[in-house]
Amino acid sequence: MANAHSSRSGGGQRRARLGVSARKAAILIMAAMPLMAASPHNPAAPSPPAPNRPTPSGFDYAGLIHVHTAYSDDATGTYAGRALTAAKQGIQFVIITDHDTLGPGVTGGDGWRDGVLMLTGVESSRTEGHLLAVGMETAPLSHGTSTDSFLASVTGQGGLAVVAHPTHRKWAWEGPIDDRIGAMEILDLADQFAASSTAQKLAALAALPVAGPRAYLTMAARPDTALALWDRIGQRRRMVGLYAPDIHEALELSDDVKAPFPAAGDIMRLARNHVLTTHALTGKLASDRATLLSAIGAGRLYVSLDILGDGRGFNFAAIAGPGRFEMGSEAPAGPPYRFEVVVPDVGERLGASIRLLRDGRVIAAARPGATTLSHIDARPGVYRVEVSVPATGVGHTGKDLVWIYSNPVYLRARSPRPG
Ligand SMILES: [Zn+2]
Ligand SMILES: [Zn+2]
Repeated sequence: MANAHSSRSGGGQRRARLGVSARKAAILIMAAMPLMAASPHNPAAPSPPAPNRPTPSGFDYAGLIHVHTAYSDDATGTYAGRALTAAKQGIQFVIITDHDTLGPGVTGGDGWRDGVLMLTGVESSRTEGHLLAVGMETAPLSHGTSTDSFLASVTGQGGLAVVAHPTHRKWAWEGPIDDRIGAMEILDLADQFAASSTAQKLAALAALPVAGPRAYLTMAARPDTALALWDRIGQRRRMVGLYAPDIHEALELSDDVKAPFPAAGDIMRLARNHVLTTHALTGKLASDRATLLSAIGAGRLYVSLDILGDGRGFNFAAIAGPGRFEMGSEAPAGPPYRFEVVVPDVGERLGASIRLLRDGRVIAAARPGATTLSHIDARPGVYRVEVSVPATGVGHTGKDLVWIYSNPVYLRARSPRPG
């Protein structure tokens, strides 16, 4: 969100760009800090967490991908600190992606800390924009490495390359989206922050002491451009959609003074990726890493703005006879499929509206407050779900907010791959 970013060239001094004067921002931060410090905390969980009650789609692990630490020169924070903060917010995994470095490395950084599975990836500054890479042990991070070599190295190790903030005002990815890029951020807080007006930013800062992190919803919007790109790519091949908080916790007030703002704990409360694994994590690092990363790479996940309501319990699949095709699956078009959506009970209280989309167009909708939707279809296309809630209270934008974004189930006219 209010984070700094590396320059596209990957070199040079990295600066926070808040769009408000540092002095104004500093005053607002000072006003907000005592209240932020007093925000309630849950006790840290033991490691690993007890598995959540599984849904028909699997065990649900909530976590974040694209978080920085002081290994990035435009961020503050440590692995231990990020883990502790995540534990207090009920987050079960965090994938750290520092700028152009693997930091302590996979062997030095990864592990269970305070009940949180901490994994290491990287955010690579390329001439075309920024790519995340996760699930590999090494990466060619020197300046001269071509994107082709970078992708060959990452995918050659079984890693996942991700387009970071695809529609950012300054850092949008401008290269081709190579088939070796398996995922993209569909919702990125840096994009949302950069796209919001100065008035929205100031309104959020002013509301922060009273409303806490809900104040940031003032800047929330449906990422129409990123979603349209995602739907378009999905018509050709699987593209995993992720949420990224891009946490830096570093507001640069002057050349050598960074305020730890916005607070990582506040940002961590806003939204998460919910990854659905076929079996529970065990506390053994190597197998847990493989379980989690393979579910992410397969697209078995949804994004939930958990600050509006805990998304756990959500599931979406296409069912044909005895076959159940989970999010991320590619299934052959032809026979009719029953698309089944289940939203957790909190959706009723929120007046949530379930919509099923095919290639970006709504093809079925449930009445507000309904917690299930069932729809039969046989046409090829990218089927995914958005669940919206009316924006009420602080952070009211006058528009509905999307609470949950599913990953798609793809019906393919030919050459299906098993899901
Ligand atoms: Zn970036
Ligand atoms: Zn970043």
